[in-house]
Amino acid sequence: MHEFDFAAPDSLQQAVELLGRTDGEARALAGGTDLIPQIKENRRHPSLVVDIKKIPELNVLAYDADGLRIGAAVSCTRIAEFDAVKQHYPALAEACALVGSYQIQNRAALGGNICNAAPSADAVPPVLSYAGRLLLAGPNGQRELAAETFFTGPGQTVLTRGEVLVAIQLPPPAANSGAAYLRFIPREEMDIAIAGVGSFVQLSADGQRCQQARISLASVAPTPVRADEAEAFVAGKPLDATTIAEAGELAARAARPISDVRGSAAYRRELVKVLTRRTLQTALDRARRDA
Ligand SMILES: Cc1cc2nc3c(=O)[nH]c(=O)nc-3n(C[C@H](O)[C@H](O)[C@H](O)COP(=O)(O)OP(=O)(O)OC[C@H]3O[C@@H](n4cnc5c(N)ncnc54)[C@H](O)[C@@H]3O)c2cc1C
Repeated sequence: MHEFDFAAPDSLQQAVELLGRTDGEARALAGGTDLIPQIKENRRHPSLVVDIKKIPELNVLAYDADGLRIGAAVSCTRIAEFDAVKQHYPALAEACALVGSYQIQNRAALGGNICNAAPSADAVPPVLSYAGRLLLAGPNGQRELAAETFFTGPGQTVLTRGEVLVAIQLPPPAANSGAAYLRFIPREEMDIAIAGVGSFVQLSADGQRCQQARISLASVAPTPVRADEAEAFVAGKPLDATTIAEAGELAARAARPISDVRGSAAYRRELVKVLTRRTLQTALDRARRDA
């Protein structure tokens, strides 16, 4: 492992300054479950690593009338075990509880899952499906953006030099809504998703029709993607078996998968169909329980 400088500031301002001023590459470190293996395997060569876990704003986990706020350094375990997440954002709880193993979840942060920008990141589709927004802070101040606009390619994001993800904000749960996340991996655990789907549905006040849906896909494109065509198709319709099956077909059209050792592109498209159907059905069941 090559040598690098290390800092562990306890203020956001210090972290931004440190990350912005180094000559070489500087990287934030949350749980380190992506970054440390990347450094060890010579895939990243930071000259400075800045531990962000001591920064108060990045450790907030709070639920109130504005929704759910998750500091970027909060671990997957804390999120999955937080009562408000289990009750109001079950798809996020499901995804956080799937990341690696208990040991990994104890270290891994949602912010790290997002900033690492792996197309396979499990916690990202729920954040997109819950219409999450990201708060960033950098040398030029703070900015907020829709989570789905954050990713520009595999491992690539809109983060500029010195910028850190501060928090993830999910809106308050909509009435008559439900969501679910599922992925497919070849083994029982500790594997990377061949495909993952997060679905959110909000039903009309009478519970008869889908008012809106947000369907997000992982591992089937260079970045996480929304299945726009499927979402538009189900809006305004009763979510019966025929509509859900057609939504699965349309969701697969949003996928731009590669073929690799873990699965062919055709197999990934089939998985998107199945996982979309299943997550829509679970989201629907949860929305009905909510009604
Ligand atoms: C054995 C194993 C199993 C795994 N299984 C899964 C799995 O099932 N599903 C899955 O999705 N992932 C999995 N992962 C990957 C990893 O655990 C997750 O992506 C995790 O959420 C990363 O979070 P972290 O806090 O450890 O990130 P870190 O490694 O600390 O950081 C990841 C990247 O994001 C940057 N970064 C982190 N926080 C910020 C911030 N606030 N602002 C700006 N940049 C930031 C870092 O500089 C780095 O480039 C696995 C990893 C291992 C080692």
